[in-house]
Amino acid sequence: MADKELILKLSDIHGVAGFEDDVREFIKTEIEPFVDELTTDPLGNLIAVKRGGGEFKLMLDAHMDEVGFIVSSIERNGFIRFVPLGGWDPRIILAHLVEIKTRSGDIVQGVIGAKPPHILTQAERREVIPIDELFIDIGAASRDEVIQRGVHEGDPVVIHYPAREIHDGVLVGKAFDNRVGCAMMIEIARNLKDKLPFDLYLAFTMGEEIGLRGARTVAASVQPDIGLSLEGTIGADMPGVPERKQVTSLGKGPVITIADKTIVVPRKMIMALEDAAREAGVPFQYKLPGFGGTNAGVIHTSGKGAVYGVIAVPARYIHSPVSLMYFSDYDASLKLVMNFVSNVDRLKGLLA
Ligand SMILES: [Zn+2]
Repeated sequence: MADKELILKLSDIHGVAGFEDDVREFIKTEIEPFVDELTTDPLGNLIAVKRGGGEFKLMLDAHMDEVGFIVSSIERNGFIRFVPLGGWDPRIILAHLVEIKTRSGDIVQGVIGAKPPHILTQAERREVIPIDELFIDIGAASRDEVIQRGVHEGDPVVIHYPAREIHDGVLVGKAFDNRVGCAMMIEIARNLKDKLPFDLYLAFTMGEEIGLRGARTVAASVQPDIGLSLEGTIGADMPGVPERKQVTSLGKGPVITIADKTIVVPRKMIMALEDAAREAGVPFQYKLPGFGGTNAGVIHTSGKGAVYGVIAVPARYIHSPVSLMYFSDYDASLKLVMNFVSNVDRLKGLLA
């Protein structure tokens, strides 16, 4: 059922927080044949609805944006300064290939410049260069030349490693956080053949990485009763991380959030998700409490409140130039969520 190509395609689209337009247009085209309504709100969130009536509203949400940068200034000598959009570790930005998306939609490529090791002092070798001292080099000799190539203050920037399958079922790409969530929602819309006895909202949100921004207006306009945030989350099963700090692991299936920095998931929701996993015949794991946060944080506390949970696909190295995930975890997550959405009695039980 699950569509590997869809994840790879989505991961390659530029969608830095606040610049989600291309992701939104792609999703619109994919999802349009399978939903009854499709609207874009003033913030840029895309909300798809499958109408079914009934007494409650179920919402699934996934953020479209990815972490990246924005051009802050262009210097006389042609070097470009930038600031981060979303959470970055300054140690891992240096020396990568970047793509700047210009106002006309063209891509200008460059590299994040680094002084060669030959000229570094001993002290410099040990220090982490702050992001505001880094620069992008597009090989232009002057500010005028940068501008001639179409680059402008305010243009979004991504570090771009094209997504690919490096081994059977092992995917790498720049934006699995959170294009895996977007892919799941597209597939759910495609696969739900029967009319559901409730209205299903599929909210593709903007600006999660800069403070759950899109989720705020989506929650206010949809006012869901029940829902799930679908995410790509912190895979931390790797050398140097003690087992008790491994937030999630690859290969162990969908991740059920217990509590993160923004939500304590109601126990009945956790149990309903476990039940859905068992019924779907897939394994599941818990996300170690206390790390990260998602759209669910603002959605469950808005309006009259909602019974909300989070299902995520584990991916290692999120918020870095390239992350790695197992397709099997995605496939199992999709099966879990399909089962969750399809069991109406269980959903009603959540509202009782
Ligand atoms: Zn995310």
